[in-house]
Amino acid sequence: MSISEFELTDSVMYVKGIGPRKAELLKKLNIVTKYDLLTHYPRTYENHSTLTKIRDVPEGETVLVIGRLSGITSREVRGLTIINAILSDETGSIKLTWFNQKYLLTKLKTGMRLLIVGKAKFDRWADGLAISQIQSFTILDADEEPTLGIVPVYASTASITQGTFRTAMKSLLTKMPPLKEILPQEILTTQNLMPLDRAMRAVHFPKSFSELDEARRRLAFDELFLIQCGLMLIKRQTQDERLGISHRKDGALVKAALAKLPFDLTGDQKKVFRAVSKDMEDKLPMRRLIQGDVGSGKTVIALLALVKTVESGLQGAFMAPTEILANQHYEKFSALLGGLGIRVGLLSAKVTRTKKLREEAYRQIAAQEVDIVIGTHALIQEGVTFARLGLVVTDEQHRFGVNQRSTLEKKSDLMPDMLVMTATPIPRTMTLTVYGDLDVSLIKELPPGRKPITTTVKTMRSRKKVYEFVRAEIMAGRQAYVVCPLIERSESERLADIEPAEETFDMLSRGIFRDVPCALLHGRMNPRDKEAIMEKFRDGETKLLVATTVIEVGVDVPNACVMVIEHAERFGLAQLHQLRGRVGRGSEESHCILLSDSKASAAQTRLETMETTNDGFKLAEEDLKLRGPGQFFGEAQHGLPDLKIADVFRDVEVLLQARDAAEKFVTDDENLNYFASLRENLALAYGDKFNQIVAN
Ligand code: ADP
Ligand code: MG
Repeated sequence: MSISEFELTDSVMYVKGIGPRKAELLKKLNIVTKYDLLTHYPRTYENHSTLTKIRDVPEGETVLVIGRLSGITSREVRGLTIINAILSDETGSIKLTWFNQKYLLTKLKTGMRLLIVGKAKFDRWADGLAISQIQSFTILDADEEPTLGIVPVYASTASITQGTFRTAMKSLLTKMPPLKEILPQEILTTQNLMPLDRAMRAVHFPKSFSELDEARRRLAFDELFLIQCGLMLIKRQTQDERLGISHRKDGALVKAALAKLPFDLTGDQKKVFRAVSKDMEDKLPMRRLIQGDVGSGKTVIALLALVKTVESGLQGAFMAPTEILANQHYEKFSALLGGLGIRVGLLSAKVTRTKKLREEAYRQIAAQEVDIVIGTHALIQEGVTFARLGLVVTDEQHRFGVNQRSTLEKKSDLMPDMLVMTATPIPRTMTLTVYGDLDVSLIKELPPGRKPITTTVKTMRSRKKVYEFVRAEIMAGRQAYVVCPLIERSESERLADIEPAEETFDMLSRGIFRDVPCALLHGRMNPRDKEAIMEKFRDGETKLLVATTVIEVGVDVPNACVMVIEHAERFGLAQLHQLRGRVGRGSEESHCILLSDSKASAAQTRLETMETTNDGFKLAEEDLKLRGPGQFFGEAQHGLPDLKIADVFRDVEVLLQARDAAEKFVTDDENLNYFASLRENLALAYGDKFNQIVAN
């Protein structure tokens, strides 16, 4: 994409309107080069085609008005700056309100002409309408004709205006020579795609909404196509038969492990283990994802698969996302498998604390003196090498990136089989994007004897009653969790009415639960303390555990059957579902109580979905729709580059097309040269991230 003189890799500095100060501010938005600016796609668009006269401004609709500014005043309320002004045209005047944008005071001047896009609401003080939700405004020169039409709106920080973005973008596009096409003509024709150069220009300044749709589709296609190509290449590499391991058929050891389980496998568990077993026996390396709702019993599949690899004379590794979980698995596995002569080892912060302990652990792994190693990220540290690694299991995969997965895979000379387990129900579209290189198995059936969890949403006013209920449950011999969104009050939370975990803990343990053993657990504690606290709770010594979301993943205490979630509106639905999955694991009736005082009706409706459905997939889809994949997975947790324009919901169709095209493209060896040029583009777009994935 480069042409002499104009280099997209050049700094964004000195693009029209961008000096050193603004360049510095743009860095916060990850905009450093001209390419970054070019692909800072509009967040949304405003239809500025119709101008509304001030007299005709309706209540509650987004409108575009132009007028002259007067009567600028400001005041401070609880540390918040409120700016008021009057906007007038030949038909009348209307009040304007800006919240918390103090910097505007130096910009807004009496007599100035302004173009405002915003929504009017009734204002008590003005006794009439006031535009209080100002989405954007542009300062117009005395006699400037405003550009009407479809106007881009960019994600920005407070100190960079939309005007700056629009001016810079216009100038950049004017100076930029036509972009070279990156897709083969054949794909453009069969997929009916707009040329890249036109799409890139149109996405910023579309002439019509239909042109915009086409431009977006083209750019989303590119993004998804490139990722799919990368994933296909990974898959192709691992499907080299010569490298894989054929595991033995299930023999005495697997049967003995099955016999030691305190329960029979459910139908789904049997089915999934059969699929895993078959994959493992096959010479092609296994790459399988097991998706199963919380509590569906995935761990036992991992256990059996690990036993199977040991039975074939190999070692297995099991990577868990947290210390607590690694410990929990370690204890369960040792108890079950110790009697069968299988040596289970733990590689965690505790074990790798001192050099001596660490080196001894590494030595045992390298000498095959342990058969199954359970660990955290400690497993992928340099220095860890396996004598004969036959199987790698990663639990709760979305916490690990694709890169980490493949790091573990390279810890031995063999090409180990790979099993990935996740309790986050990932919609199919997402599976294809993030896990495009994996086969998927589902566990839908829950183990027998589970009582459904009753979920109720309560307001803070009922808080006392709620805790009386919890107390009664504890007195009846059960245990409970209280989950809080924050650890301690941060600066920005000062005004908000949030009880962080520490305060909640103090309040409860000194108040209504004075005579009950309580404990506090949060992410910033050191691993040893966390482990000790968890241990006591698991043993039933602690009755009430006040925690942040560290308990979200996998913690298994069957006697805990009440959970209170404070400020539930602060959590995503999928996350609430995960949290809720910590109860309902035993034979007792379980309760999950969502405390929330949010008056926002969207939040209320969202929480009510929790009352009516237990279907994790449905909740995850809802969540993804509401919050987008970035939020859903947490930043960059999935290890793939963030999508800049494609949207895994809106663009399902495009995704499937991109996948088809990528499949054909990658299997046609003649295209490999072509791929080199695609990779240049990937490097431009994603830096090293993608090369790391594709190169190994
Ligand atoms: P998850 O899928 O969330 O990882 P776990 O593997 O932790 O679920 O299993 C949840 C609980 O269900 C554990 O206590 C486990 O011992 C139990 N369990 C698993 N499979 C069965 C089964 N087939 N019958 C009865 N209980 C089971
Ligand atoms: Mg689990």
